[in-house]
Amino acid sequence: MNHLIILVLAAVSIIPKPAVVVELNGNCKASRAQTPQVTLSPALKSEAYILDIDRKGVRICAGGEAGVFYARETLAQLGPGALPCVHIEDAPAFDYRGMMLDCSRHFWTVDEIKTVLDLLAMHKINTFHWHLTDDQGWRIEIKKYPELTRVGNYRPYTVSWPGWHPDGWIPDGVPVDGFYTQEQAREIIEYAAERHIAVIPEIEIPGHSTAALASYPWLGCRGEGYQVACKWLISKDVYCPGKESTFAFLQGVLDEIMDLFPSEYIHIGGDECKKEEWEKCPNCQKRIADEGLRDEKELQSYTIRRIERHVRSRGRKIIGWDEISEGGLSTTAVVMSRFGPPSVKRVIQNGNFVILCPGEHCYFDYYQNPDNAAEPRAHKGGNGNLNLEKAYKLNPRNNYTPAELAMVKGVECCLWTEYVPVMSHLEYMILPRLDAFSEAAWTGGDRDFDDFHARVQVMARRYDALGLNYARHYIGAKPDFEK
Ligand SMILES: [Zn+2]
Repeated sequence: MNHLIILVLAAVSIIPKPAVVVELNGNCKASRAQTPQVTLSPALKSEAYILDIDRKGVRICAGGEAGVFYARETLAQLGPGALPCVHIEDAPAFDYRGMMLDCSRHFWTVDEIKTVLDLLAMHKINTFHWHLTDDQGWRIEIKKYPELTRVGNYRPYTVSWPGWHPDGWIPDGVPVDGFYTQEQAREIIEYAAERHIAVIPEIEIPGHSTAALASYPWLGCRGEGYQVACKWLISKDVYCPGKESTFAFLQGVLDEIMDLFPSEYIHIGGDECKKEEWEKCPNCQKRIADEGLRDEKELQSYTIRRIERHVRSRGRKIIGWDEISEGGLSTTAVVMSRFGPPSVKRVIQNGNFVILCPGEHCYFDYYQNPDNAAEPRAHKGGNGNLNLEKAYKLNPRNNYTPAELAMVKGVECCLWTEYVPVMSHLEYMILPRLDAFSEAAWTGGDRDFDDFHARVQVMARRYDALGLNYARHYIGAKPDFEK
């Protein structure tokens, strides 16, 4: 498949852009009502497909069922009128194309998650990274530990960052509650699988864990006095790796998670773990001495390595944020990196595969307009302007050598939801930036933003028809992003 041969004509407006599009002359008379003729070819990779629409009808040849599904998604974008006569050859540049949704800071119902999955399918994104636990809420039923979803799932109010409220630190008085039963999780996994989307659960270890400590205080170093975090700050209260009971808990949780989720990978978080409680804890200090560890940083590595061994013993692999690569890591672990090339290159040199989600291109909780006052509240990261063009410019080929790129499994966009309490706001944050991301993930190489921007206009009509909210300042004339 040659990604350099790209010819898209006006009648064919598809996102993400297929590798090869040739519009054929003549009236093909193929009708949308016709059932496509489908064949599978071992010569194609499982997600690759060839779509032909001509006088003989609609034909799909694909490497596997995923390829057939993507051909149908492409077909759905050819319209809504008569089908054009066209020959399309297509395949993704990256095997892993993901989106992370934070369900801890705000809770999203099963139906809302299904809407997100529909959008991922529409954009040929094949992984849903489900952020299920954090300081501010535990969202997945664990039958062995019922307090997690009796205590850890609820916070009575939220105190936002200063600046959110003009008067400073004011509780909003709005409770946030909710969790997914295992039955609901299975429903979501199945719904995703029907759309060729793998669901990767994330259980944060050892930091971002206050909701678990509030449920079972013996998991923490002090053993008492925890509550589900009601602020957006990163809590200093984290799991105590000095106690064996903590590891028994974590392994019990992960065993149920692995029974529930068939994914090859289990995300174990690993980021932003504060160490100050460990410095004061006799159990943690004893562990450091007994294991010959140098300091609390190595205690974190010890924790990750133990968890990694347990996950691997069940035939699965871990994914973790950048920090899991500190202090030695099995090469079966994959590092999800929100940082830039220097950090990623170090991980690759250690022999670990990486998934790239650089904040400047992929963090969709950031503002997308320099005039922040004109937008719903958002995070000021990325200089407060992760606009559509910035999202579109995600291109790992600009930063890594071919040998390094061979260690890049793919890319992911992330929606943290501190600022995002309702679905219409969620839609605004990801649409149409998800369009930009999906094209970067699918095509991989250099792209023409003006050409993309023209196709976003067509996509917006689909969003209108589906009743979805989106950032309308990209619709119409191309905005001047330089100002
Ligand atoms: Zn401790």
